[in-house]
Amino acid sequence: MKSFRIGSLFGIPIKLDLTFLLVLPLFAYLIGIQIESVTDILNEIWGAGISIDALTGGMTPWILGTIAAIGLFVGVVCHELGHSLTAQRYGFPIESITLWLFGGIAAFSEMPEDWRQELNIAIAGPIVSVLVGIVSYVAFVLSPDVLSGVVAPETLDGIRFVLGYLAVLNVALAIFNMVPAFPMDGGRVLRALLARSQPYARATQQAAGVGKIFAVLMGLFGLLVMNWLLIGIALFVYIGASSESQQVTMKAAFQDVVVSDIMTPATDLHTVSTDTSVAELVKRMFSERHTGYPVLENGRLVGLVTLSDAREIKPVERDAYTVDEVMSTDLKTISPDSDAMTAIEQMQRDNIGRLLVVDSGPGHGMETGSQDYQEQDLVGLISRTDVMTAFNIIQKSGAMGPMGDRESQPAD
Ligand SMILES: [Zn+2]
Repeated sequence: MKSFRIGSLFGIPIKLDLTFLLVLPLFAYLIGIQIESVTDILNEIWGAGISIDALTGGMTPWILGTIAAIGLFVGVVCHELGHSLTAQRYGFPIESITLWLFGGIAAFSEMPEDWRQELNIAIAGPIVSVLVGIVSYVAFVLSPDVLSGVVAPETLDGIRFVLGYLAVLNVALAIFNMVPAFPMDGGRVLRALLARSQPYARATQQAAGVGKIFAVLMGLFGLLVMNWLLIGIALFVYIGASSESQQVTMKAAFQDVVVSDIMTPATDLHTVSTDTSVAELVKRMFSERHTGYPVLENGRLVGLVTLSDAREIKPVERDAYTVDEVMSTDLKTISPDSDAMTAIEQMQRDNIGRLLVVDSGPGHGMETGSQDYQEQDLVGLISRTDVMTAFNIIQKSGAMGPMGDRESQPAD
């Protein structure tokens, strides 16, 4: 997603996604064409006494639509700030708040697994939305007394339309967000409540299941009434529920599993030495069906060579080159005591298929990342395949961790 920063609040950067620039005029338009019906409703339920004629001439509907749409998104930012400030109070850092196609996202670098914290963070957004709705309503009620005589009657009608509509929209936003489906707030509330009495991973799976059912119903209803926004949100909720439950299931499965538990140990590794010829390397790649080899010199790790490195040399010249001329020495490494989840995240972040597991001696056990190759002892290699195999074994053995149900430690 392409986004740019527009400022910051409470030290949290506020960003606009490009998709938001599409949705703002759309909302302005939608509000603009609904002015008559919305005003009718406001007049009916709250006796607003707004003159429809004052709002419908010339450009007025589009100006009011734009102001109300901007007001709505200010409400969305307040909603996200509700989540973010609550999370910050518990010590979870917030990277940014981004406005995009479907509203706002507060980007957390980690999520709490304590159900009370998750409940409070999840519910803070809708509570703030209700408060914004109440403030809008109070302003709507007080505006005739405060502003009559100060602004023209038509302007006052416009202001009251915007305030009244924002009161309704913010409360609607709170209700909509409480739909019990990930990644909506209601999904998190549901998981928090389920996690009171059972392991977090199981609560996530159940909450995600409920979310998927809601998403399918929402999508079917969207198709029935041909509402594309609803279909889009349904799809978004379905994908959100799936990825949330996958991520959490994986995290739970790998709890207390470290890299050395699931790596291919150095003794089982196919390696090459620096003076192996590229021709010999390619031959081994075909016969052993490996596309990447750690390169050793006197038993120490000095590089990694892959099929694409070898391919840079023309077939006829491959006898004349050795591995140390084509290998890469900028190595992505991880320590054997690192969490398996850290290895997965590192592979995802760097978009690579394998990490070299190195022991950099006492005192450096937890270090990850690129290191100076002179200090490194290769102890193994961890690949995406190793991770998926381990994950399948842990899943099929019925336990969430290799030693049983360890994630059910009492929270807090
Ligand atoms: Zn929310």
